Amino acid sequence: MNDVIDVSKFNQIIFFTGAGMSAESGVPTYRGEGGIWDEYKWENYACQNAFERDPKGVLAFHELRRIEALKCTPHRGHQYISRLQQCYNHIWIVTQNIDGMHQRAGSENIIELHGSLWRIRCDQEGKIMEDLKQGSYRAQECNCGTWLRPDIIWFQDMLNDKVVSKANDIISSCDLFISIGTSGVVWPAAGYPKMAKDNGAYCIEINPEETELTYYFDKTIRLPASTGLRDLFGFEDEI
Ligand code: NAD
Repeated sequence: MNDVIDVSKFNQIIFFTGAGMSAESGVPTYRGEGGIWDEYKWENYACQNAFERDPKGVLAFHELRRIEALKCTPHRGHQYISRLQQCYNHIWIVTQNIDGMHQRAGSENIIELHGSLWRIRCDQEGKIMEDLKQGSYRAQECNCGTWLRPDIIWFQDMLNDKVVSKANDIISSCDLFISIGTSGVVWPAAGYPKMAKDNGAYCIEINPEETELTYYFDKTIRLPASTGLRDLFGFEDEI
């Protein structure tokens, strides 16, 4: 395969993104040295038990994450993907990130496996609401009096069946799969490169480091997300 990808030659393209995609914009990472879980115990801020014990504390933690995310802006890599989507309608993003950076770059067709900092829900009434207010949530309690819960997959939560099913459908029928900035240790996301490969997709990894998933890829690009995407799709300009 030529070095530069011809998008029109593929029927269904998936960009599969992880924390490394956002880290390049400066969004703090959660795991690893210096990550958020070094400073905050997830048991106190990112699980259903913590929310039931201390809803105010959990909501305040997520409001801080929203504030931090807004200090960052999508990088060229986010914008390259968004530009490709504006020209072709067979491109999907499946992301493990919850920060909304792809949306802020103008992307559509995004599957958020782990939920979003920008949605909140009432589990009593079964309502999910977008909340794009800067920083703090518009409201912390529903009209019915229940605490509103960030619509995020926390530790010990099950993933949303419909979201996983949609991701499985499109990944198992794609013919180009590009993984960017994920270490491949969180399931079921870690199974996606194999799923794409089993379907015969051409699989590419963009990551400065080797990962547990590297084995499945036909091509690996050991560069940061933005430079890797620029080279892969032949973008010449610096957005
Ligand atoms: P991870 O932290 O396990 O791995 C990040 C990967 O990104 C590493 O392999 C690293 O080498 C690579 N990387 C670092 N800088 C890069 C760059 N500039 N370009 C390309 N790659 C780069 O992340 P993960 O695999 O996504 O798993 C982390 C979990 O934590 C996920 O479940 C995710 O939901 C959550 N998370 C979300 C966010 C967010 O929303 N921004 C941030 C951190 C973690």
